[in-house]
Amino acid sequence: MPIDYLDKFKGSLIGVAIGDTLGHPFEGMLRDAIRSNFTNFKDFINDNRRLFNKFTDDTQLTLHTAQALIQGRGFNLNNFVEEYIKWLDDPPIGAGYGCITAAKKLKYGIPWKEAASNSGGNGTTMRIAPIGLFFHKDIKVLKSSAITSSIITHAHPAASAGAVVIASAIAYLINKEPESGFSIDEFFDVITSSISNSQDEIWEEFCEILVKLQSSLDMPIEAGLIKFSQAGVKSPYFIEQFLGKAFVHPYTISTVVCAIFVFLKNLNSFKDCIFELATAGGDSDTVGAIGGGLAGVYSGMKNIPDDLIKMVKNYKKILKISEKLFEIFKERY
Ligand SMILES: [Mg+2]
Repeated sequence: MPIDYLDKFKGSLIGVAIGDTLGHPFEGMLRDAIRSNFTNFKDFINDNRRLFNKFTDDTQLTLHTAQALIQGRGFNLNNFVEEYIKWLDDPPIGAGYGCITAAKKLKYGIPWKEAASNSGGNGTTMRIAPIGLFFHKDIKVLKSSAITSSIITHAHPAASAGAVVIASAIAYLINKEPESGFSIDEFFDVITSSISNSQDEIWEEFCEILVKLQSSLDMPIEAGLIKFSQAGVKSPYFIEQFLGKAFVHPYTISTVVCAIFVFLKNLNSFKDCIFELATAGGDSDTVGAIGGGLAGVYSGMKNIPDDLIKMVKNYKKILKISEKLFEIFKERY
């Protein structure tokens, strides 16, 4: 069967939104504390619908990234600056400090090179899915677009590296189907080589952590999350009280590595995957959003349960934006 790319576009963007929606009530909590609330997460969701009634900055910015690609019919820096400024009118929900200060500076006409914060936070990786989808046939442009879209708001090399890794992962997974699976080694080759030989210390450190992750996939989820929750974390993202606990730090490397870990541990079911992502602990909404984008593109919308899609606020609008993005993609490729 040929791949239904429209279904993959929809799956990835709605996957981001589902992960964000399910994860945001638990943002800033330890995995243990989250899980003490339920034995069955599905029942917990059904009994507490009002907790899961919105998405946050992760989905908002992902949609603005998609709109920037649609408006520019591809990557055009000005459209990205415009869209990230427009985000301020949404208004932002649960935004990271680095991202919001940069967006405000852009709004007041400060050139993006000066507006960007030096944040290594996960704020650029969480919005990258549309770039992975749109440029999946053109890896060179995928990489340059991921980097540029990232440094508009975050000058730190960890942020751009995370954006490249996740965009590359999405571009790889769009051509895979759960029925036939994929090679884990090949997946790691793709994502690690996307940032290797960069001469940048942080990018090299990221590669080393990805190699460690690859050899840790036998670990149970809890143990893996404890191991990688603080992976690579630098000040000011280090939170001493959560050392040695399952609490994903909002730094790019730790968030990306934990999201990939949970995704790879749950390849057989979108639902199981998204439930684990959203309850990972720490920056749960962003782990949910990044991992949800991966799980969603891999499974496609056809494998995402309807009730999860319908939980997302304005899900019809997200599906419409996915369709529009796909239309422009088809015109171009
Ligand atoms: Mg958020």
